Parts: sequence; C-alpha cells; structure tokens
Amino acid sequence: MVTGANTGIGQATALGLAERGAHVLAAGRSSCAETVALIEAAGGTAEDFTLELSDPAAGAARLAEAGALDILVNNAGIIRRADAVEFAEDDWDAVLDVNLKAVFLLCQGFAKAAMERGAGGRIVNIASLLSFQGGIRVPAYTAAKHGIAGLTKALANEWAGQGINVNAVAPGYIVTNNTAALREDPVRSAEILGRIPAGRWGDAADIAGAVSFLCTPAAGYVTGAVLNVDGGWLAR
Ligand code: NAP
Repeated sequence: MVTGANTGIGQATALGLAERGAHVLAAGRSSCAETVALIEAAGGTAEDFTLELSDPAAGAARLAEAGALDILVNNAGIIRRADAVEFAEDDWDAVLDVNLKAVFLLCQGFAKAAMERGAGGRIVNIASLLSFQGGIRVPAYTAAKHGIAGLTKALANEWAGQGINVNAVAPGYIVTNNTAALREDPVRSAEILGRIPAGRWGDAADIAGAVSFLCTPAAGYVTGAVLNVDGGWLAR
C-alpha cells in the first residue's frame, strides 16, 4: 500500500513498486485511477483504495479492510505555510494529524496484522529535509517531519525482532504539488536551486527508487534508517 498515490511522490512510488513486481494498493482521498491505469499500462497490477487520513483513527480502521499487506509506504502529507506568530491552531492540528498521527496509527495497524499472521513486512515513511532542518514558515510541518524521523527509529527498534523493517526516506526539493508555491517564487526558487549540489530539483522517480530499494531483499538488514535523497543538500 502506498498512501497519497494519486499524484507526486506517491504516484511515482506506486509505479516503482509495481515495476519491481508488487501488487499495489494505490490509496488516497482522491481517486488513484490514473495511477492504476499507469501501472496496468506498464504491465503491473494495482487497485484504487479510498483512504482519507484527516481523521487518523478512521484511516487506520480502513487499513484493516485492505487485506494482508507486505509493504506500507506512508507518503500522504500536507503543508501549511504561515509566519509562526500567526500560525493557526487548526492548521497545526491538521498537519500533525495527517503527517504524524495517521502515520503512527497506520504503522501500528500494519504491524499488528503482520504479527498476527506471523509475517514480516516493510514500512517506509516519507520524511523530509525538515526532519533535520527548521525550514521557514512551516512550524507544524517541521515538527511533524522531525517526529517521523524519531517514530521511524522507535518502531524499528520494537519490531526488528519480528522481521518488520521500518525506514524513512527524506526527499530533498522535489517537483510536485507540495513545492509549487516555492517554485512559483523566483527568489526562493533560485536560492534553493543554487544550494543543491546536483544542480537540479529532484523528480518523484528519484524518491521512488530509494523507497523501492528499502522494500527489496537487498535492504533486509536496513532498519531505523532515514535515507536522504536530496541531490546532496544536507551534505553541503
Ligand atoms: P503532493 O503532490 O501534494 O501529494 C501529497 C499526497 O498526500 C496527495 O496524494 C494528497 O492527496 C495526499 N493527502 C493529503 N492529505 C490527505 C488526507 N487527508 N488523506 C489522504 N491523503 C492525503 O506532494 P508530494 O510532494 O508528492 O508529497 C508526498 C510526501 O512527500 C509528503 O509526505 C511530503 O511531505 C513529502 N515531501 C515532499 C517533498 C517535495 O519536495 N515535494 C519534500 C520532502 C517531503 P490529494 O491529491 O487528494 O490532496
């Protein structure tokens, strides 16, 4: 299952996993029919699975209707931008609910079901550069993404013995809806590009490759890692 699979990083990840042989549940609050069609056109198999995460407990309950899952990619996320002194409580709650609480509850539901079946599994959470840095005008997003890095390690420790690997991928600046506002601001856009050692913004497919790796046998001994996929941003 890939959450938020209708667009952006989630869509590319769903495609990447399908190309490597996974049957994909493309999960989203919006229809993932386009993603399913892309996967089928590439010779893979997928299903469109409705999943709304703004009420995290309801989202986690819906996970139980998905059948046995081997892989969970927690990709769905939102961002709200405002000066910290003006930042609204509703925005704080909305971001923390989708970006952190829903991730925890989905991981918990996935792991419980896997343990009951005696199966292992792979969880990949989508973190951010703002799992490490503070960002500007995105206090709730930064708090949630720092939380994702910590949660990933905490769950990895508890579940490694049951064969459930929990890792995160921290994307750099990727061309998706999430970064449209930044790319439309010529000053911020130039500042960002000028600091990326790779000399380009990332593509969603760059993230899909790293997520897919973490779901292969080759990554069997990798757990609790937060893998930066950022064109060198954090190394600079
Ligand atoms: P995006 O194009 O905005 O995609 C976000 C996805 O999350 C969409 O599928 C969206 O569905 C879904 N979503 C939002 N709220 C939801 C809810 N309440 N229930 C279910 N699904 C919901 O952005 P993206 O860049 O691909 O983001 C994917 C992940 O990467 C996010 O966790 C984001 O924080 C992270 N990330 C992105 C970047 C970047 O540079 N783009 C960098 C670091 C981390 P709708 O289309 O219906 O809104």
